[in-house]
Parts: sequence; structure tokens; C-alpha cells
Amino acid sequence: MKDLYCAVDLGGTKINIGIMTKEGEVLDNIKIPTEVEKGPANSINNIKNTIYELLERLNLNKNDLNGIGIGSPGPIDSEKGIIVESGNLKGWKDVKLVEKLSEEFKGINIKLQNDGNAAALGEYLFGFGKGCKNFIYITVSTGVGGGAIIDSKLQVGASSNGFEAGHMIINLDGRKCNCGNDGCFEAYASGTAIEKIACERIVNEESIISDLAQGGKVKAQYVFEAAKRGDKLALEIVENEGYYLGVGIFNIIAMYNPEKISIGGGVSNCLEMFYDKMMDTINSMSLNSSTQICKVKKAQRDDCGLVGAGALAFYDI
Ligand SMILES: [Zn+2]
Repeated sequence: MKDLYCAVDLGGTKINIGIMTKEGEVLDNIKIPTEVEKGPANSINNIKNTIYELLERLNLNKNDLNGIGIGSPGPIDSEKGIIVESGNLKGWKDVKLVEKLSEEFKGINIKLQNDGNAAALGEYLFGFGKGCKNFIYITVSTGVGGGAIIDSKLQVGASSNGFEAGHMIINLDGRKCNCGNDGCFEAYASGTAIEKIACERIVNEESIISDLAQGGKVKAQYVFEAAKRGDKLALEIVENEGYYLGVGIFNIIAMYNPEKISIGGGVSNCLEMFYDKMMDTINSMSLNSSTQICKVKKAQRDDCGLVGAGALAFYDI
């Protein structure tokens, strides 16, 4: 029998649950809607049932599991196994997730960690970070998050919320961020930022972004699509994405001196469109000894959030 673990990647809209090996091979997985509005008890129940469904599909029983690892939007308290509160899980407060699952899966080791940290661990162990000691994972989607592994240790911080890179301030007089501060990295580089900037600009400027949105919500993907078609405004916004991502990544390199950085999240699917601008920005700054050794690439594991969550159950963080 292989060393098997259950992985739970809890998100604001869906929960991805899988059974995996210690080598990061996902044997089977099921995605279910989170149904945040129905409250945590409903979701926890659905998680339990889905784990049983997976075990049945694989002809296993719960005693075959060596551990369960959960990645959740933060802030969380990993020691107590509690989701403290989360903007992505509206209305959930002090949810005793580990305790509730332990009632069902008695005697099984259950770990909870911030989702950015979990994804970083997944990409570190099973993706681009494999084999190095100092690694950073950045996810660029609704917000900007991620995690850091330094000297092979996941940097969880004092309250499991280390590496909030998205709220690193890159412009003191800058754009308002959802967190309340001005000029955060994610207020410039996230998918949401791309959408907001496009929305503001198309009011006064000619662009096919408006046609693609057809009067509805402007999405980051429309901006990338318009840029592919040579739209001047879209090209400028995409170029700026490369610039701001480069500025943020430079700061991260200056702080951590990593060997490798992976970029994941929805926006990374268009990374090739702003990769050169991003790298030029990084390389135009000082600290050459750090920037030159750091390799920056698109994340290799789309499911790093899932496999990283599972790895929490066995990796000594
Ligand atoms: Zn912020």
C-alpha cells in the first residue's frame, strides 16, 4: 500500500478534494461548490462526504489515509486549526475546521494552512521548485498571494499568515487596495487591478475592450484578448502588468534572494505577453548578484494548491 494522503483545497467558490501519494501524484479528485452562503457546517459536511466518495472510488477506507491537509483562505490559526475570518468565505468566523473533521476522521493527522503557503509548498515539492532550497511562489488572480520556502522551510510566520506579498506597498500615494491601504502590489498587478484599470480607461479612450465586454463586466481576459488583436490601450495595460509585477518581484528578490520564483494563478496563463517587460524591469534594478541567479517561470503545477495542501500532512514545516 502506498503512503496516501487526502488534500483539501478550500476556495471561495469551489473546494477541490483529492487523494494523493507522497510523490504528488493525484489518484483521484472531485471539485464541489463551496456554497459559502450556506455556512461552514454545510461545507464541512460536503467535504466529509466527498472524502468518503473518493475513498470508495479508489476502493479504500479511511484508515488507509496517513493524513489530511487543508489549504484555506486566511487569516487562519494553524495551531488551533481554525479559519479565523476570511474575505473569500464571507460570514465564516472562528470555524473549527480541524476539530470538526477530527470527529469524523479520528486518529488521523489533520493540518490546516493558509492557501498561499500550501500552494507554494506544492509547487516547491512537485513543480518548478523541485530540488532547490530557496523558492518563492506567487499567485496572480483576484488578488496577489503566495508563499516562501527558505532553506527548505515554509515561512509561515508568527500567525500562519507570512508572505502577504500582495499587500507590500509599492506606491505610497497609489491606488486604493481592498485591504484599506494605498498602493499595494495587488492593487496594480492582480487580475482585479487589470480589470479596474481597464474600466477606468475605456471611459475616455478608444478600445475594443468595450466591445469584448459587450456592456457587461470588464474581465482581465478581455484585456489580454484585445492586446493580442493589437489594441493600443490593452497593449499598454498588459505592458504595465509586466512592469508592476517586475517591481514587486524585484522587492521579493531583494528580501529573500531565492533561486527560483514560480508565477501561478489565472493571469499567469498570459505570462508570455508581459514576461519580457517583467524581466527587463527586474534586471534594470540593482542587486545584480541576486537578480541574475534567480530564475522566474510560470508555475508547472496548476494543481499546486491541492497537492501542497495534501503535503502539509507530511512535510515538516
Ligand atoms: Zn492591500
